[in-house]
Amino acid sequence: MSTVALSGIAKSYANFVALNGVDLTVPEGEFLTLLGASGSGKTTLLNVVAGMISPDRGIVSIGGRDVTHVPPRQRGLGMVFQSYALVPHMSVFDNIAFPLRIRRMASAEVKSRVEKILDIVQLGHIAHRKPRELSGGQQQRVAIARCLVYQPPVILMDEPLGALDKKLREQLQQEIRRIHKEMGITILYVTHDQEEALYLSDRICLMNAGEIEQLGTPQELYFKPANAFVADFIGESNLLACDIVAPGRVRLDASGQDIRIAQDTSGTANRLMIRPDKIAVLADGESRANEICGQIEEIAFVGETMRLTVRSGSQAFTVKAPTSRSADRKLGSTARIGWEPQDALLLEAKS
Ligand code: ADP
Ligand code: MG
Repeated sequence: MSTVALSGIAKSYANFVALNGVDLTVPEGEFLTLLGASGSGKTTLLNVVAGMISPDRGIVSIGGRDVTHVPPRQRGLGMVFQSYALVPHMSVFDNIAFPLRIRRMASAEVKSRVEKILDIVQLGHIAHRKPRELSGGQQQRVAIARCLVYQPPVILMDEPLGALDKKLREQLQQEIRRIHKEMGITILYVTHDQEEALYLSDRICLMNAGEIEQLGTPQELYFKPANAFVADFIGESNLLACDIVAPGRVRLDASGQDIRIAQDTSGTANRLMIRPDKIAVLADGESRANEICGQIEEIAFVGETMRLTVRSGSQAFTVKAPTSRSADRKLGSTARIGWEPQDALLLEAKS
């Protein structure tokens, strides 16, 4: 059993609240990512799990055992950080073998385990090299291998790919995903990169100012954001300030225009979210339940799609349209844009 369960975790530094009562359960075998802007408390929470930071309040349990006061080494966790922390005078093989040797494992067993892991991270051909003879990506693979080799039931990773360039980062993301699936380990992963989180995770825990804004699958956070903060953080969105005026109808603050929505319109929601790819640039004769006329203020060509900024009064709309349909649009010209009621989501703005 390697479920990680956090309950009521709080941590302050002087008057600053870094974690404000976090409850989180990571089931065995799950890949869960703590996602959030810099300073949102991700590293602090990971270090509370690791035992490097003791919380002011709350309980940490791993595999059903209360480990809140258990020192890091006795928690049986693997850790991978942004800095690889390899031993410089040891070869790749010896670096990976190191955790097994300090556990006094027989050398035949060490050899077979290290070779298996070298295979998994695809470093067998350079097992004799020293860390300085490796690229950053290779060094990070060694660090990951060193962590996997003793088969910890839970691995904690804090921005492990943060120091790598985009291409290497994508390669290693694929590798981490494959390793997670192959080995069935529980991974608690930290990143500020939403795309990385969406790609890797079974579930994402979106953090903001020491609290959880939303916990759910990548699809849930993207398609059913709990509030405007989440909608803004995950993917791109137009967030329009509005008020509910009647069932199925809201009024935009910026223009006073009434907009039809498909949602039950009760409560205090006051932001209308529309993803840029849900808004169409309408051709003559085309229509939508909601339409707005504006001026094209910006056009960017991004391959198959184009990003347009269409301004109507004080409100700017970001629109992603197929290039095939919008290639002849001109800067400064008037465009009619529109969307259907079910393509918008009414959310609560958090102050
Ligand atoms: P993240 O990893 O999400 O970027 P951290 O968990 O590292 O954020 O930090 C959360 C907040 O706590 C930050 O505002 C940071 O400045 C503050 N913090 C972290 N460690 C300390 C510390 N030792 N002393 C004072 N403030 C700290
Ligand atoms: Mg951090």
